[in-house]
Amino acid sequence: MIEQRPAAAGSGMPLGIFGGSFDPVHLGHLRLAEEALETLQLERVRWIPAGQPWHRDALRTDASHRLAMVRLATASNPAFEVDAREAEAGAPGYTVDTLQALRAELGVEQPLVLILGADAFSRLHTWQRWKSLFELAHIGLATRAGQAVDPAALDGALATELSARLEHDPAVLRTAPAGAIVPFDMTALAISATDLRARLARGASCRYLAPTGVLDYIRHHRLY
Ligand code: ATP
Repeated sequence: MIEQRPAAAGSGMPLGIFGGSFDPVHLGHLRLAEEALETLQLERVRWIPAGQPWHRDALRTDASHRLAMVRLATASNPAFEVDAREAEAGAPGYTVDTLQALRAELGVEQPLVLILGADAFSRLHTWQRWKSLFELAHIGLATRAGQAVDPAALDGALATELSARLEHDPAVLRTAPAGAIVPFDMTALAISATDLRARLARGASCRYLAPTGVLDYIRHHRLY
């Protein structure tokens, strides 16, 4: 189920968990994972392409294609691994259930860090059993250079969790298995899968927005 290197269990270093639709995977995702790895001092980043996310429409590209594209995009980085469990399940996979399964596999002491972009974090209160996420993992919250997340713009309950859990030193991620929210600055890249799909649909170039191998795969399989 896990490709590339075996899991980071036992090292004590935080393992990054990076979920998404990846429809398709692009350079914004890759930089997010790379910068989280470096700034939060993670041992590895485990990419988990979603099956059929409950909060999205049913018109997603088949999970097997999205999984294949993530494999292509991450293959050259030994610190990235791919976890196919949600994509292969072919059913709605809730992040909280996936984290619970990972916790059971990796042990209660393994620090886990759920990597989220600021847009995903701002919707966290709409996720299934969202408050349980904090018992299962830390959150590495990618912010744009210099811009803090504005608690006033967040749902009230989410803002309360943020202020109670906010930590600025990534070292805390090694001192507990879960529970902190650690923001980190990320190079701003205004790339989105929505924009890529629109470009592909009108036959426009996506060169330099996604890895070449992914764009070749899209062409070969006539996706989007
Ligand atoms: P879509 O446009 O279809 O909503 P997306 O490009 O946002 O897709 P997702 O698969 O939904 O990609 O995102 C997975 C994660 O990557 C989320 O946490 C999201 O915040 C983050 N992310 C996506 N694009 C970027 C980007 N350009 N910079 C930083 N984080 C990003």
